[in-house]
Amino acid sequence: MSSKRCARALACNTIIWAAGVKASDAAAWLETPADRAGRAIVQSDLTIQDAPNIYVIGDTASVQWKDGTTVPAIAPAAKQQGTFVAQRIRHQLTGRTVPLSFRYRHLGNLATIGRNEPFLGNSV
Ligand SMILES: Cc1cc2nc3c(=O)[nH]c(=O)nc-3n(C[C@H](O)[C@H](O)[C@H](O)COP(=O)(O)OP(=O)(O)OC[C@H]3O[C@@H](n4cnc5c(N)ncnc54)[C@H](O)[C@@H]3O)c2cc1C
Repeated sequence: MSSKRCARALACNTIIWAAGVKASDAAAWLETPADRAGRAIVQSDLTIQDAPNIYVIGDTASVQWKDGTTVPAIAPAAKQQGTFVAQRIRHQLTGRTVPLSFRYRHLGNLATIGRNEPFLGNSV
């Protein structure tokens, strides 16, 4: 059956808003490989391919995590990446050994799904 033949209005009191989040176009500007979501694929030190002085972090970066997944696009991950890059740059400037690979530490998930109805997940 074609989708046109199925199309009909259903009366309801529920509004569902569904939206995706598009990554920044930084991967295209940098002409570097991107994942399906448009995030720049970075190396373990958060630099992009063939550019050891260009870091991409946070929601713009596709960072390998465990079991073939990528680090989630959430604030704690962005903060940890910022700290890592800052430390690397500081160490480079002061001639110290730089940390080689970023290691994401997942602190768990917390969502509020209604008044007094939090959901706590811990998939560390
Ligand atoms: C609706 C929503 C709800 C979310 N809820 C949660 C939550 O509950 N918990 C959680 O951990 N995370 C949540 N997130 C994800 C979280 O917001 C992001 O993972 C986090 O902000 C990523 O930080 P970032 O620094 O990479 O990017 P951002 O915080 O988006 O910062 C990027 C900054 O760059 C600026 N910018 C963009 N383009 C340019 C340009 N061309 N030139 C100059 N500046 C530019 C933007 O204005 C922005 O200020 C949520 C995201 C959304 C959209």
